[in-house]
Amino acid sequence: MMQQYLEIKKDYSDYIVFFRLGDFYEMFFQDAILASKELEIVLTGRDAGAKERVPMCGVPHHAVNLYLEKLVDKGYKVAIVEQVEDPKAAKGIVKREVVKLVTPGTLTLDGSVDQKDNNYIVAIHEIKNGYILAFSDVTTGENYLEKVPYDINILFNEILNLNVKEVVIPSKLRNKLIKHYLNEYDLTISVSDETDLPSYYRNLVNEVYDKELIQAFARLVNYLEKTQKQALMHLQKVMVFESNSYLRIDNNSKKNLELTETFRRQSRTNTLFWLLDKCSTAMGSRYLKQSIQRPLINTEHILKRYSLVESFNNNFITRSDLIEQLKKVYDLERIVGRISFGNCNAKDLVNLRKSLNAVPYIKESLKDLNNDFANSINDNMPDLKDFRELIETAIIDNPPLSIKEGGFIKEGYNKTLDEIRNNANDSKTWIENFVETERERTGISKLKVGYNRVFGYYIEVTKGQLDLVKDEFGYVRKQTLSNSERYITNELKEKESLILGANEAMINLEYDLFLELREKSKEQTLKLQELAKTISELDMLIAFSIVSMNNRYIKPEIIEERIIDIVDGRHPVVEMINEEVFVENSITMNKTDQILLITGPNMSGKSTYMRQLALIIIMAQMGCFVPAKIARLPIFDQIFTRIGASDDLSTGKSTFMVEMLEVNYALQNATKNSLILFDEIGRGTATYDGMALAQAIIEYCHHKINCKILFSTHYHELTYLEDDLKSLHNVHVKAKEENGTIVFLHKVVDGPTDRSYGIHVGKLAKLPNIVTKRANDILKELEKNHGYNVIKPQTIDLFNYQETLSIQEEVDDTYNSIIEQLKELDILDITPIKAMNILNDVIEEIKKISSK
Ligand code: ADP
Repeated sequence: MMQQYLEIKKDYSDYIVFFRLGDFYEMFFQDAILASKELEIVLTGRDAGAKERVPMCGVPHHAVNLYLEKLVDKGYKVAIVEQVEDPKAAKGIVKREVVKLVTPGTLTLDGSVDQKDNNYIVAIHEIKNGYILAFSDVTTGENYLEKVPYDINILFNEILNLNVKEVVIPSKLRNKLIKHYLNEYDLTISVSDETDLPSYYRNLVNEVYDKELIQAFARLVNYLEKTQKQALMHLQKVMVFESNSYLRIDNNSKKNLELTETFRRQSRTNTLFWLLDKCSTAMGSRYLKQSIQRPLINTEHILKRYSLVESFNNNFITRSDLIEQLKKVYDLERIVGRISFGNCNAKDLVNLRKSLNAVPYIKESLKDLNNDFANSINDNMPDLKDFRELIETAIIDNPPLSIKEGGFIKEGYNKTLDEIRNNANDSKTWIENFVETERERTGISKLKVGYNRVFGYYIEVTKGQLDLVKDEFGYVRKQTLSNSERYITNELKEKESLILGANEAMINLEYDLFLELREKSKEQTLKLQELAKTISELDMLIAFSIVSMNNRYIKPEIIEERIIDIVDGRHPVVEMINEEVFVENSITMNKTDQILLITGPNMSGKSTYMRQLALIIIMAQMGCFVPAKIARLPIFDQIFTRIGASDDLSTGKSTFMVEMLEVNYALQNATKNSLILFDEIGRGTATYDGMALAQAIIEYCHHKINCKILFSTHYHELTYLEDDLKSLHNVHVKAKEENGTIVFLHKVVDGPTDRSYGIHVGKLAKLPNIVTKRANDILKELEKNHGYNVIKPQTIDLFNYQETLSIQEEVDDTYNSIIEQLKELDILDITPIKAMNILNDVIEEIKKISSK
């Protein structure tokens, strides 16, 4: 057996081999040592012909999924080895083979992947002037192809975008850096060199004419087949993403804009996805997430979506009916996946039927809407009535989880099954009657008939009545218990074999009938997938309608000219989570306006203003309504965002380097139809350095890149650029000074800001008075020198610095701080003693200051 093991392990050296022995999967040697640590299970040993015992550990087969998930989650790959012949029929050692490979990107266990997420696996295919990415979700059967330019940053941007855990590469890579990056990002690497597409997948690419694209897809599919050890008949038609077929948002921008994950905590809450996800089905939520990542650029499709959302808004009752029906729809894509893999059960088919039951009602409601798009959705929605009826007649409403124990096929579905069941029932009735006849025949009033797995049916007589048992009854003693004796008779055994035989026959027949049904379901794959996609889009648009109604969104107007006209816009997420009232802001950029230079103190709302625009554009191009009073927008092809300085510790690059890389990426890739948001560019380095870079970048954008740019900065010195740069326009976020502190108004108005208020913000953060005071003095000195002459302000002894404050300033400071302190008091919340103490402190402070 160990030889057999080693023979198999040889071909799967980078896999942990789960070797089936009886009820366990065993692991040996290095695999055992590793797995015992990772899974926290006991490491034992086994005599295996070697001098020393071989390290071994094992997991029970019924709980194997749990352990597989754990290993795969940690990035390992597992090869499952099963017995592939009946041990009874085997001569010598039972034949074993690898029946499946379980890897992070091909995990298909139910419940192991988030319902609202896709679990993509991606293959990299190198071509002459770039790369092709082929990616699939094995659980739903979706496949995509995408060409990426020859730039490793863009390549990994796209890969990370997909949130994949496993990447398939050729064994020989032209660009050696790829492997380095894969390791750096902790991605599981798998190799596949086979680039011929098996003929049965040809129909998936019959609209793809580029040979290289097909090869890239083949590389991935061949790997998937190798892991599943079977053809994947549920794979859907491949979609090719042309860079010009959707609104492209690079990975950093997605992160910065918190589309599906928050920037710091990586949580789903408080993201655009969180806000919009009012979907009733998991499929709808997944579709929504994909749509957020890739909004449309096709005006016609966007307008169709608007019209349907509007229709839902106006037909509240129909919308509620639809939601009611959608809630009954299960995850069709994943059920179809399980049908294809052969690991679906009777419950899946019942859930499929329940989902299909909803379809006629959905169709009816769509008709009621009287909307062109709803009608075309309706026309494309297959009914699948016959298939639904087939499952209805075949499977009971509440079937057991296992398909190997029978008891789920409905009466009347199969004649033979009904006959066997009737016979078995007759025998069962016979046994029930048998108790009565035996009691009468023998006179043993407490005689009972029971059943257990070891002895089958038996007669039980209690100790008290044992002397009534006579030889002529033909009772054969089988078991003695403390209170009774158990017997069998020939007659009972005959009936028993009839019942058990019938049971086995029933189980086998039900299993065969199930497989037949599964094959019939497989034939419906394409239609079910079409249905799933249509329902997903519908579900998403209903969610848009719900959110739009709840949050007062309006229908955007898509225009031809490159004009942005948003009246009283809001940031959709900030307005939901902020306790303060959100201050509405308009954004206007006419045809010739190219750069909006936004100045204002830190924390005043510059980033929020810029993100607001990006989010409104993304929502508009997804077909959703937007938070504003009026929104007139052209179609954008790309959005680039560089917001705030942050360390990317995971890749070991400095903040400033990351900042510059992203700026460069935007400058290199923007077209006249793009939007760039630059937030505080240059903040990550020294002031003059940063300001100089910021100005140079603005000048470059102004002269070389003809797209819409929002540039925020707290360097208010840059606002003079408006004098020279024709298409640059100054706006600023208003703030006002009150009693020496700053109040943010969050209102964006025309013109440059007059100062940067940095020191005020320091004050707000309760820096020691002496620090802000000193900062003010330094500032005055710097301003005297126009800020540009690098003159080092004299440093002074801070301990004696207090002396240099004027008495009046000190008095003001003290009174201000006393007032602040008193203002914050909640009189209902403190005890009389505490109040006395505070009063005492205040009096002391006043005494101290008035004595000066
Ligand atoms: P900045 O980029 O200028 O440093 P932010 O855009 O990060 O400032 O805004 C700081 C905080 O101010 C936000 O977290 C938000 O809570 C609040 N804020 C921003 N804009 C608004 C607004 N228009 N209405 C209400 N609160 C706002």
